[in-house]
Order: sequence, then C-alpha cells, then structure tokens
Amino acid sequence: MTSSLLLGLIGDGISASRTPRMHENEGAAHSIPTIYRTIDISNPRLAEVGLEELLTGAVRLGFDGLNITHPFKQQVIGLLDEVDPVAARINSVNTVVIDSTGRTTGFNTDVTGFAAGFRAGLDGAATEAVVQIGAGGAGRAVGFALAELGIGELIIADTDVRRAEGLAADIVEATSVGTRAKAIGLDELEGAAASAQGIVNATPVGMKAYPGTPVDTSVIGSDTWVADVVYFPLETQLLAEARAKGCRTLDGSGMAVNQAIDAFELFSGQKADPQRMRETFLSF
Ligand code: NAD
Repeated sequence: MTSSLLLGLIGDGISASRTPRMHENEGAAHSIPTIYRTIDISNPRLAEVGLEELLTGAVRLGFDGLNITHPFKQQVIGLLDEVDPVAARINSVNTVVIDSTGRTTGFNTDVTGFAAGFRAGLDGAATEAVVQIGAGGAGRAVGFALAELGIGELIIADTDVRRAEGLAADIVEATSVGTRAKAIGLDELEGAAASAQGIVNATPVGMKAYPGTPVDTSVIGSDTWVADVVYFPLETQLLAEARAKGCRTLDGSGMAVNQAIDAFELFSGQKADPQRMRETFLSF
C-alpha cells in the first residue's frame, strides 16, 4: 500500500486551486501523509521552463502523480509513456500517475468527474437534446461526458466556431453510443437554447473577469435544466437566473470535486470519501 504521496498540479495561474487541499486532507484521512504542490508557470522562477522539463523533474524527484491543467492538457500527451484509452480518445490528460520505476500514465478525470457530478445533481434529467456553450479545455471533457451519459443530440456553440466543429466531429467519430453532435453559430444559439432540454455552460462567462451569461436566459423555459462548469463563483449569473425561473441547475463544484475523487483513487489506490472531499472543497 502507498505509504506517502508527493503530488503536484502543473498549470498557469493556479495559486487559488482547491485541488491541493482536497488531496492533502483526503490523504491524511487515509493515514497517507500527502504533500501536494502547485507548479505554477506564472511564477517568475519557472519563466523559462517548459512542460517537458517540469515533467522530467517531477519524475526524477520522486513525485507519485500530477494533475495537469490549462494550457498543458493536450501538450502533455506526447510526453507520457502510456495514455489511457479514454484520455487518448478525447485528446486531453488532466491526471498523470508516476509509478515506482518512473513510468508515466495519463488519464482524464474531468470526463468521469463531470459525468459523476451530473448523475448526482441532475439524476433523471431529460437528455434528448442538449446545448453546450464552449468547446475549449473543459468543454471537450463535458462534451465527451455528455455523450457517455447517453445524450441524444449535442448542439455545440463557441465563439471560435472551428473549435465547436472539431469537438462535434470528434464526438461523432469516437463515441459508440450514437450521440449526434453538431456545431452551430452564435446567431443560432438562442433558438437552440429555447428548444433544448438542457444547457451547459463550458465557457468562462460568469467568472468575475467575464461577467454576464453566455446565452440570453429569457429564452430558456422553466423545464430546461442548466449546468455550469464555472466554480469561481459557484452561483453564476446564468444559474441564478435559471433558478429564478424554476429550472433545475447544477453548479461547477460537482465536476471539480469528482475529478479530484477519481484522481485520488488513481494516485493512492484508495477510494476517496465524496462527502469529505466536497466539504474540503467548500471550506475555502
Ligand atoms: P478555454 O479557454 O480552454 O475554453 C473556453 C472556450 O469558451 C473557448 O473555446 C472560447 O472560445 C469559448 N468562449 C468564451 N466565451 C464565449 C462565449 N461568450 N460564447 C461562446 N463561447 C465562448 O477555458 P477552459 O479551460 O475550458 O475553462 C472554461 C471554464 O471552465 C473556466 O471558468 C474554468 O474555471 C472552468 N473549469 C471548471 C472545471 C471544473 O472542474 N468545474 C474544470 C476546468 C475548467
């Protein structure tokens, strides 16, 4: 059994991440002393350091695992010894397990994390037609998770229409469950949102730096469910307006907590306690 864990998160501007505390608390609760460091490329000390050097350094220094976030989730794939088939299919890795020989294996727990959060928070929600706004890093994970959840038709909008088209094509190609996926322009978004059974925001709109809503909520019906991946703040303007209409809503905490739950199990071989992980996440 793992006797201690040395973990890290590699990314840009991650000093406020809640992931380190979730892993350290959970490790302690399993009597596994756990140190989890942020390796933030916005730190001037790392100004000239590339991802390959950071990964090699972590392996050499005896790290047991890493989480990978923006802007490295795709770049890291080419640097790993092995990539789990799900992560390879979506072309995005957010978790790297480093074994005792230094061998690296990449996984994607954003996909499983969003799916678990969805099952817990929107159980039984209608999923025949769903509109997803945003096809960037989080959006790719959300799109594949929705497909695996059995969405009938996924309609994807992004200000960068080529990103939306690329994600729709990848989902159609990769999924065996027969999800239909298509990209639409922003000019078609309101019409699609008005007739969808569910809407997911996977853009940064709703964060303090990006105020507002990604779609005009006056077009959304009260029987439409609305999910957001933004978790700074948890109550985005989109969710507040949707809730005021009587819509079922899902905030970004489910994805954030469940990606850490799944990563903890990969790092430690132990099952994390979902309630404790959630309480740690919310305790900031
Ligand atoms: P990103 O920059 O990779 O992707 C954002 C995408 O949204 C881009 O493709 C962009 O073109 C598009 N976009 C931006 N504004 C838009 C608009 N008004 N209409 C349509 N498309 C628009 O960013 P990301 O890494 O995917 O992060 C997005 C959000 O998800 C952030 O708020 C981040 O904090 C959050 N996030 C949450 C979790 C979680 O666990 N809950 C995990 C990862 C990211």
